[in-house]
Amino acid sequence: MNTLHTMVQGAMLRQEAMAQHTSYGIGGPAKAYITPKDKNDLAQILQFARQNNLPTYFVGSGSNLLVADEGIDGLVITLGKSFKHLKIIDANVYAESGVMLGKMVKECIRRHLSGVESLIGVPGTLGGALVMNAGAFGGEISNYLKHVTVMTMAGEEKQYVPGEIEFSYRHSTFPSDEIVISAEFELIQSDESTVMEKRAVASGGRKATQPLKFRSAGSVFKNPKEGAAGFYIDQAGLKGTKVGDAEISEHHANFFVNHGQATAEDIVSLIRLARKTVYEQFGIMLELEVTTLGFTPGTFDV
Ligand SMILES: Cc1cc2nc3c(=O)[nH]c(=O)nc-3n(C[C@H](O)[C@H](O)[C@H](O)COP(=O)(O)OP(=O)(O)OC[C@H]3O[C@@H](n4cnc5c(N)ncnc54)[C@H](O)[C@@H]3O)c2cc1C
Repeated sequence: MNTLHTMVQGAMLRQEAMAQHTSYGIGGPAKAYITPKDKNDLAQILQFARQNNLPTYFVGSGSNLLVADEGIDGLVITLGKSFKHLKIIDANVYAESGVMLGKMVKECIRRHLSGVESLIGVPGTLGGALVMNAGAFGGEISNYLKHVTVMTMAGEEKQYVPGEIEFSYRHSTFPSDEIVISAEFELIQSDESTVMEKRAVASGGRKATQPLKFRSAGSVFKNPKEGAAGFYIDQAGLKGTKVGDAEISEHHANFFVNHGQATAEDIVSLIRLARKTVYEQFGIMLELEVTTLGFTPGTFDV
């Protein structure tokens, strides 16, 4: 770790509480939380991690992450504070993965470019959005994608075009040992009223349905083919159920909120309760949408 610390040109925080880096405000320490300075720095860090067999995890801004109270036994790398370049020429958008999705969406809306306006209000970085195939109100980040550049653990850049990576509902097939560093999109030049109308529908819908006053990671479960996960959790009578300082939101049953002091263990208990109850009552096994880090296999099984 000392060698790595000397090598990193960006920032490296040791035993850094992941609670500082997740929208839940939950999570124990990562061995090292690293923000590389640039591509060269990133390449060196990845090569070092590979040569030394250090488990390595990539995160964006932690808005879809549940991290165990015990923390993460490995390196956590984020590009969220460094890889921030955004360039828009005509309808072509180039963005590095540390760009906040909201910023990219607003810049596109300002130029009356259509294609990502329904994603207004989705928190997180572009990198996280691509890996999660973030979507809202009928739009998905992968819809107008031209290509994505990743870096491998050998420190080499590689480009993918859609088709080489599959995107589906809140899912992509990026290899977990490659970090997304940038992407390019080709949007549609539209007019102000069309873009603003779509933006307003998305923005209004979000405010009406989501408990935005409290810390959460958005939807806990993916919607099953039968309907909305929140509907079944609600029908199972679980809205408002509390464990410790965590609660199944009264406002939106698929959002589990942290009232301040919740632990990962509290959220895990609610997840297990919801999965078990919905399965017993409706025969549906809910699948997690949130990404989990640092848990032992089987933690979420019921
Ligand atoms: C209030 C609220 C509302 C939300 N609403 C929506 C919504 O409407 N639609 C929606 O889709 N999501 C929603 N989310 C979830 C979340 O905002 C998205 O999943 C977002 O895209 C995650 O981005 P992030 O940068 O925070 O990624 P993180 O949470 O940090 O990471 C998410 C995943 O991406 C991986 N990852 C992140 N960056 C990289 C990278 N550069 N290279 C490789 N892997 C990477 C991580 O390993 C992890 O698997 C919501 C969350 C909150 C808190």
